[in-house]
Amino acid sequence: MTFEALGLNTSIIKALTDAGYTAPTPVQQQAVPAAIAGKDLLVSSQTGSGKTAAFMLPSLHRLSEIDPATAGKTPNQEMQAARARGERPRFKAAQPKMLVLTPTRELALQVTTNTDKYSVNLRRIKAVSILGGMPYPKQMQLLAKNPEILVATPGRLIDHMESGKIDFSQLEILVLDEADRMLDMGFIDDIEKIVAATPANRQTMLFSATLDGVVGNMARRITKDPQVIQILSAANKHENITQRVHFVDDLSHKNRLLDHLLRDETLDQAVVFTATKRDADTIADRLNIAGFSAAALHGDMHQGARNRTLDSLRRGSVKILIATDVAARGIDVPSITHVFNYDLPKFPEDYVHRIGRTGRAGRNGHAISLVNHAEGMNVKRIERFTKQLIPVNVVEGYEPKKTASAPRSSARPGGWKPGDNRGGAKPGQRSFSKPGSSSAGAPRREGSGASGEGYKGGGYKGSNPRSNDGQRRTYGDR
Ligand code: AMP
Repeated sequence: MTFEALGLNTSIIKALTDAGYTAPTPVQQQAVPAAIAGKDLLVSSQTGSGKTAAFMLPSLHRLSEIDPATAGKTPNQEMQAARARGERPRFKAAQPKMLVLTPTRELALQVTTNTDKYSVNLRRIKAVSILGGMPYPKQMQLLAKNPEILVATPGRLIDHMESGKIDFSQLEILVLDEADRMLDMGFIDDIEKIVAATPANRQTMLFSATLDGVVGNMARRITKDPQVIQILSAANKHENITQRVHFVDDLSHKNRLLDHLLRDETLDQAVVFTATKRDADTIADRLNIAGFSAAALHGDMHQGARNRTLDSLRRGSVKILIATDVAARGIDVPSITHVFNYDLPKFPEDYVHRIGRTGRAGRNGHAISLVNHAEGMNVKRIERFTKQLIPVNVVEGYEPKKTASAPRSSARPGGWKPGDNRGGAKPGQRSFSKPGSSSAGAPRREGSGASGEGYKGGGYKGSNPRSNDGQRRTYGDR
């Protein structure tokens, strides 16, 4: 399959060739022709699948076909024309043709950067990011140029809408990127308000890791006769990522083990996830003292500092990023070989997002969780959510004093069945690996069927944060 066969115009194809893309990914193969035809889409796919191009390429194709004569004047041109007529110029709101909503600033910037890359030969089309943390005057300047494409986080966009700076009456395409995440972050009301301000005849594309539950309900409400695309590629299931758990006795054991694992010579760059901003800072400091090139990334940092840290990571001058969940969402750096869960995430779906920071662009990756014995249940929740068992590993010289055993015996979703025992051990038994032993690297536990065949649960009940604790999670992205 080629990009030409998808029906994209030559200017876009040239940009893709220059960017080194040789063939469309599975999600692009399915989404691009349908979106060019103007269909609404509901797509379940994750970062790393090429989803940004899946919605942006057909949109650029459609926007490039709009006749400039009918495109109207920019707010700046309108004001100049009014002055030339001797009238007092009145402020005119920006009228974008396309809006992409993303949960985080990082993802929005990533989408804008990719859009610039894909539209490099489409001179007339401009994309701008409207984000929390960016100075208002700068955003006003960007809006005054009347960009065709806005990429925005919901909170800041609402601010501009309410102050009359943006008018969505001419909007043709609405994209909700990582919709599940936006809902997790408590943006549902903002999204409803934004959608209500757009024309009913718009094209809507919704991308989400899952189309179940609350996301599915919203998706059906805001789309018309959508084409549903579900991509179950190896990358979606993270089959290219080797996952393992190391049990630790206490904080000191955890820190010593992390230090040891970070010295793995196959490690190029790594992200270490912590539960708190303070831990991210503390661990970054400690690793720098220990001779690593480390930096923290979290939501308390100014946008400028976050961008600089991400640039350093991309350039390779920072090797180890210590991050909290909200800051790490959009990170797309192919040389990240390892992801560490210094703390397990609160919600199983965050585990999936975290480990997806490695194994990007078709490479392999490692996801290593450092787990206290008391957290065995949390590992089990993750396993039930991903429908995969995570093998347990022990490093010689860093063995935990306690041996983990019974709590995870029933970890296999759907239960252990005779005949699906790959490791030779029975449920409830635990076999640890040691580097250098003949079977090192292979799954250490019984029934490690990655496909989770036999699981009929249709999703782990505790996976929706709101169904768990009734709380909305807001991270203040304005
Ligand atoms: P995304 O899923 O949009 O976050 O994209 C993941 C990565 O794959 C990004 O670095 C993209 O630049 C890259 N990518 C997207 N589509 C293709 C393609 N067809 N060929 C090669 N790389 C791609």
